[in-house]
Amino acid sequence: MKILILGVNGFIGHHLTKRILAEKSGWTVYGMDLGTERLGESLTNPRFNFLEGDIAINKEWIEYHIKKCDVVMPLVAIATPKLYVEDPIAVYNLDFEMNVNIVKLCVKYHKRVVFPSTSEVYGACTEPEFKEDESFLVTGPINKERWIYSCCKQLLDRVIYAYGTRGQLEFTLFRPFNWVGPRLDSLNTAKEGSSRVVTQFIAELLMNRPINLVDGGRQKRCFTYVDDGIAALVRILENKNDICKNQIINIGNPANECSVKELAEILKKLFQEHPEHKNDKSYSEILDISADTYYGKGYQDIYTRKPSIEKARKLLNWEPQIGLEESMKLTLNSFLEENRNAVI
Ligand code: UDP
Repeated sequence: MKILILGVNGFIGHHLTKRILAEKSGWTVYGMDLGTERLGESLTNPRFNFLEGDIAINKEWIEYHIKKCDVVMPLVAIATPKLYVEDPIAVYNLDFEMNVNIVKLCVKYHKRVVFPSTSEVYGACTEPEFKEDESFLVTGPINKERWIYSCCKQLLDRVIYAYGTRGQLEFTLFRPFNWVGPRLDSLNTAKEGSSRVVTQFIAELLMNRPINLVDGGRQKRCFTYVDDGIAALVRILENKNDICKNQIINIGNPANECSVKELAEILKKLFQEHPEHKNDKSYSEILDISADTYYGKGYQDIYTRKPSIEKARKLLNWEPQIGLEESMKLTLNSFLEENRNAVI
């Protein structure tokens, strides 16, 4: 199988590539991205073909490879809430416009697309567990610009689904729920204060700056270790007996639900226990901050986000394995190592 991954140097792209190259001797990956810093050993693997390029520029290369490959994974997107409020137009241009063009090429060349939807499409849904084919997708008013990402992704989901039901496209949509792990975001963006929560808190701990709990940190997320997520994605790509054909599948770990406050406490405890930091003289305080102060007026939070994973269990015969504390420990340790190497 030939797989085209656009955004192959991203968090999901590079982990997936590494796993495919290690476990699937008959699969070849064609990847494109702006940079290579996460790709490591994959770059020298003969079953990995890489182009340093831009989805907005290298259109001929992309079209040629869509024609050539069996499956297309368009993973290029801005997926960081701070950026939804800072630059909503960039989110729209990249996440919607660029990607809808890729989807249309998949229609044109009759190629299967495995597309990243997002847990964010459920928005402020109040159901205790979000179900792919039943739950309401709930967003806020237009002046809350945070929702542009959710809307872009939701419309793409609907476009892809409509092509599917008209027999013009074979697709699988997957919805990651707060995946975490090594190289989630770059520590540099976290040091500037615009990163997803786990990397942000790790960066604060490293710099001994306060950890900010937006609105008291009572909002809950289900953090999913990337290795579990990637295992599910590999099964989606395998698509045994076409089981994932035209399906939407949540990929998350409902057992790992915790509040942002609990998350801060876990990370701080793990940091304090770490051999390199157990003798530090002081540690980050955990402080409350208002959402307006932290994100600006265009932000609105999501208080619960828990997936139903019944479909993933049934279709993929998959179960997440890695608990909350272990997920945080593995993620923290990898960032500490990365930071150590950067300092040396
Ligand atoms: N958050 C926080 N402090 C931070 C960064 C994020 O309290 O320094 C909160 C944020 O308001 C949200 C949660 O952590 O409720 C998760 O944020 P993230 O950016 O990881 O993305 P989300 O899960 O909202 O898509």
